[in-house]
Formats: sequence, structure tokens, C-alpha cells
Amino acid sequence: QPDVMDKLVSLAKRRGFIFQSSEIYGGTGSVWDYGPLGVELKKNIKDRWWHALVRMRDDVEGLDAAILMHPKVWEASGHVAGFVDPLVDCKACKGRFRADKLQDARCPRKPSKQPGEHTECQLTEPRQFNLMFKTFMGALEDSASVVYLRPETAQGIFVNFLNVQQSTRQKVPFGIAQIGKAFRNEITPGNFTFRTREFEQMEMQFFVDPNADHMEWFEYWKAQRMQWHLDLGLKEDRLHFHQHGAGELAHYARAAFDIEFDFGGTLGFQEIEGVHHRGDFDLGRHQEYSGKKLEYFDQPNNRRFVPFVIETSVGADRVTLAALANAYREEEVAGESEGRVVLGLHPAIAPIKAGIFPLVKKDGMPEFAEKLGNELRRRFPVFYDETGAIGRRYRRQDEVGTPFCLTVDGQTLEDNTVTVRDRDSLTQERVAADRVGAFLDEKLAG
Ligand code: ATP
Repeated sequence: QPDVMDKLVSLAKRRGFIFQSSEIYGGTGSVWDYGPLGVELKKNIKDRWWHALVRMRDDVEGLDAAILMHPKVWEASGHVAGFVDPLVDCKACKGRFRADKLQDARCPRKPSKQPGEHTECQLTEPRQFNLMFKTFMGALEDSASVVYLRPETAQGIFVNFLNVQQSTRQKVPFGIAQIGKAFRNEITPGNFTFRTREFEQMEMQFFVDPNADHMEWFEYWKAQRMQWHLDLGLKEDRLHFHQHGAGELAHYARAAFDIEFDFGGTLGFQEIEGVHHRGDFDLGRHQEYSGKKLEYFDQPNNRRFVPFVIETSVGADRVTLAALANAYREEEVAGESEGRVVLGLHPAIAPIKAGIFPLVKKDGMPEFAEKLGNELRRRFPVFYDETGAIGRRYRRQDEVGTPFCLTVDGQTLEDNTVTVRDRDSLTQERVAADRVGAFLDEKLAG
């Protein structure tokens, strides 16, 4: 019985959600490309995050900082010294593993065992491996010109804290949010797009007064972020918080919770988002390394302070994968011998909102359907299809999560109504062609 993840990998490639990067050259290790439907799905998820965090609030500002930053940023942040994983090699089986994640790894020669358990395994002592990708800036390839690809987007926010605060005249508490690529040279990437070397983060840093109720803000953001995942349609019983215990907590962190999603199969519950109370560590360190004050001036009380930071950090790719795993289902259809595969995606994130079909290719039905499609296309991603049996056309849309299919039939030509078929309930209702836009608006809201 193949894992849901294996089925998703195959569906994603077949229908154009996700392809392996540089596939014709044998692929690049754990880097993926989003195809025509995948790019829409991920974009919808990013837009929803941006809408909830930036557009709907007046206490969070948006930012788009560069991927390349001054190398000192990564010394201050602690990444040069500390963004390391302990790595072990097996000299006999030629595997490379994270020493702290051996229980999740498999010996390449004896996959039923974890590395080290197979009698022939010869594991080396762990050595520290830095996960940052390095490159050079300028014409010289020497140590003075080393720059890093950012392993997280957060630092772009910290170094711009005062630029944003002063230009927008925000008062603490307020936040800064951004979406962007991050790169990590992961030792054991895998599980499709769950752990990759190039990925996108959606991060928000919320700056609070250390003398005020910062733990309340932490609880507030925990609840907000969980609700966001629920509103995306992720099932409640597949989501939970995992609290970082004393051993997992970064030394500067005051509290940290992960939001975990149950990906099913062997992967099970895994982190999709972190909500962290980082104290004044980041701004404090950048103050120290840059020699520039990063204090907020609290005018009414005539005091200056370095704010505490509550961070919410979520992977766009991981949420996209969670949305796919959450939505995938196979079901029997009453009265039909073949079952169907459905992606029950929330209509708001579905890549295609409506399929538009003439029942048959004659009697003016294609012309009517095309005209309707062209009107709707200005506002919604829609897909026009006139080929093959209508049942097949419905199935093809079910499989990519299209919530509605509009069919132009004989009756349409008499009364200007089309049938609207609902992906999940399979019910069909007749809607006036000039009301379909309003119908979709209503269904896609929320
Ligand atoms: P993990 O323990 O899984 O390595 P992390 O705790 O290092 O993750 P953070 O640094 O808190 O992760 O990053 C925040 C979010 O960024 C994660 O919750 C995840 O959604 C995403 N993310 C981190 N690393 C990767 C990766 N290699 N591939 C895809 N997404 C990632």
C-alpha cells in the first residue's frame, strides 16, 4: 500500500504541481520546481498569509529584504558559529546522517535498520557541519569576499527594525512581516518538499515592550497562527502544538512552540511553523556587532529600550505540502465502477476555481462556454475544456482540486443557465450564466 506521500509525488508530477529540479540531468538534490498548478497553489497560500498578517492589520508592516546580506549579519545572528548540525558518515555503507536524527534515518545497505544498528556499519565521530551556503561577492574569490545565502528571512527584518519603525511611525507593539527564499545545506533532506535546500519562509517578528505583557502577546500569536492553519482547511485533528522542552529551546529563547501537522504515513506529525519568544537576543546582538543603537524611543514615557521579539515562522512549501496531504482522498462513487481521486482543497487556495465545459462540441455550446470562460477569466483562474466525455473532464478537475465545474448544455441555450457541479457533494444546480461570477465570489470568500 503506497504511502499518501508517494501518491502525492506522482500526482504532483503528472498534473503539474511539482517537478524535480533539473530532472533531465538526473535531478538536483532536494530542490523542487513548482509547475503551472503548484505555483498557483503556493501563491494563493502566500497571499492568504500576507493578507492576514499585513493587509488586515495596521500593526504589522510588510518588507522584502534582499537574500544577500552583509556577512557580519550572520556572525551577529550566531549562524556562523552555531548554525550547525552534527554529521556522521558510515564508512562501510557510504551514508551520511545527522547524529541527532539517526532514529529517523535508514542504513543504505540494510534499510530495515537505522544507521549504526546494522552489524557492518562503521560510523565516524560526529563533526559539526554548517548549513549555510557560501558564495563570493565581487570578482575576487577570497575569504574577504565570502557572503552567504540567507538561511532564514528573519535577519532582514531585524536589521531593518528602525528603518521600518521610523518610516512608518509605528509604536511598539508592532510587527514586520516578509515572505522570501531561504537556503540551507541540509544533510538529510527529503520527504518530497518537506525538507529542501531551497525553500520559502513567511516570517513575522513582533516587537514588544519588555516591561509590558510580552507573554500575553506570545499566547496571542500562538492562537492566531493556529487559527490561520485551521482557516486554510487543515483538519483540526491533524494539527497540534509541540512545546520545546528545556533541551530543545535555543539558549536565548524564552518559550517556543511548534505547530505540527500530521502528514500521515511514516512521516506523521511534523513541524510546519514555529512560534518563538526570542527576548532581546537578536536586536541586542546586532547592536553589539554593528555598533549602532537599535533602541525604540518610547516618547510618552521618555525612555529607550531594546524590544523583545515574538516570532512566527512558517514554511510556504511545508504548508503547501500539508494542504496537499490534507486534501488528498480516494473515494468510491455510487453507481460507478471506478472510484475517484479528489483534492479537497479549500476553494480559496485551489489553483483553478472553475472548469468550464460545453457538454458537446456542437449547437453553439462551445461558443457559449468560451465566452463565459473569457468573462470569468478576468477575475478567476478558470479552465476551459471541450475534449472527451464529460465524466472524464469532471474527474480531471477533481484530481487537481477545482471546486466547481460549469457545464453548458442544451438547456443553457434556451434559458441562459449553466449547471454548477460541486466537487465535494457532487450535487448539481442551475445558475444563471450572468450570476456565476457572484456565485464564485461568495463561495471563494473566507
Ligand atoms: P527543522 O527542525 O524541521 O529543521 P527548524 O526548527 O530548523 O526546522 P525554523 O528554523 O524554525 O525550522 O524555520 C521555520 C520554518 O521554516 C519551519 O517551520 C519550516 O516550515 C520551514 N523550514 C525550515 N527548514 C526547512 C527546509 N529545509 N525545507 C522546507 N522548509 C523548511
